[in-house]
Amino acid sequence: MSTPERIVIIGASLAGGSAALALREQGYDGDLTVIGEEPHRPYERPPLSKSVLLGDAEEPDWVGEESFWADRATLVTGTVATSIDPGRKVVSAGGREHAYDKLLIATGSAPRRLDLAGADLDGVGTLRTYDDSLALRARFTEGAQVVIVGAGWIGCETAAAARKHGAQVTMLDPLSAPLVRVLGDQVGSAFAALHREHDVDLRLGVGVTGFAGDDAVSEVRLAGGATVPADTVVVGVGAIPNIALADAAGLELAAGGIAVDAALRTSDADIYAAGDVAAHDHPFYAERVRVEHWANALEQGKHVAANLLGESRPYELRPFFFSDQYDLGCEYRGLADPARDRLVIRGDLEAREFIAFWLRDDHVAAAMNVNAWDDGDALTELVESRRPVSVDDLVSGSLG
Ligand SMILES: Cc1cc2nc3c(=O)[nH]c(=O)nc-3n(C[C@H](O)[C@H](O)[C@H](O)COP(=O)(O)OP(=O)(O)OC[C@H]3O[C@@H](n4cnc5c(N)ncnc54)[C@H](O)[C@@H]3O)c2cc1C
Repeated sequence: MSTPERIVIIGASLAGGSAALALREQGYDGDLTVIGEEPHRPYERPPLSKSVLLGDAEEPDWVGEESFWADRATLVTGTVATSIDPGRKVVSAGGREHAYDKLLIATGSAPRRLDLAGADLDGVGTLRTYDDSLALRARFTEGAQVVIVGAGWIGCETAAAARKHGAQVTMLDPLSAPLVRVLGDQVGSAFAALHREHDVDLRLGVGVTGFAGDDAVSEVRLAGGATVPADTVVVGVGAIPNIALADAAGLELAAGGIAVDAALRTSDADIYAAGDVAAHDHPFYAERVRVEHWANALEQGKHVAANLLGESRPYELRPFFFSDQYDLGCEYRGLADPARDRLVIRGDLEAREFIAFWLRDDHVAAAMNVNAWDDGDALTELVESRRPVSVDDLVSGSLG
């Protein structure tokens, strides 16, 4: 097993940045080049819809100190990698070629856009980058008319931030409850109540047909002919993995992302992928898992470093994510399908102090604690062990 002399990382965000930090921590002293499209050094995105958007922070949390990026890696910002040639082992970016012995693709995902009339009007946008967050914050003023399309995590957190700034907020979703695909109707309804109590005009079962205005957006058009006045529209309808480079290079794709084995290696033995873009052959799950969450990008980035250096360690952590909206905080562990798994609630759903369990057969496939912070380790153990549990214990007995 020989140590590579040149490692190139495409994507200067959480997965790519964490991998670079871990490589140096593990003693790698060869060439390390990180190529990123954005103008900034790597940063974490959760604050973009929370502290930065709320005005509680001016900057996101950075991945690595400025001195790390100045002294210990070659960070090429504002530059798009345009192709990978796996035969010659080079990445083209910014008009030059970067040779590699091992390559990590950490290109993440991009917001899904709506192919509707008026979607390119000024004032219609998405939230993915630090610059998007600052631009939206400037528009979230007292009395501004903000329409959010999509009641998923980003939509819900953005609604909370806009309300904090005193904007009038309408949130639209074609489905029956916020977050329904992840949480199902019953738990999703608790989030509906939360937003309505904070004076969000939440309209469910509503489709958007387009946006209208002269130069800037002034209204959102709904199926059935109704309109909603708007000076800012945030489209939060999911994200699409950035797989074009990998696809053009002939790498195997799966589950919408780049297919990687348990050790995060692609179909090319010298190319790895991590974070949002990686469709992982997870040792714990029967299906490929592609996770669009902070913890996954952080941990896979750290984990893949050893494998870039010649190890072949499987990545085994279960999915984990968190959200904060108004005074509600939650953490979700595991992977469930609310359409298939049985929901069990411990605590008070209406008061929004509860733990939701999704049971598959006799074990916990996923658990989410909402404003309940004492049982994190027990929930991790339940999800990881897959041990048989009784509904009575989950509702009111011991979790340990
Ligand atoms: C507003 C917001 C809030 C979030 N909040 C939470 C949260 O509360 N909890 C949670 O668990 N998760 C949250 N997430 C999700 C989490 O941030 C992502 O899962 C994580 O950022 C994924 O990291 P990544 O490094 O895989 O990809 P990304 O963060 O998408 O980074 C990929 C980087 O690669 C760059 N890139 C792409 N193609 C190229 C190319 N060809 N050449 C050069 N560079 C390229 C992109 O510009 C980008 O900078 C949030 C996401 C957003 C947008």
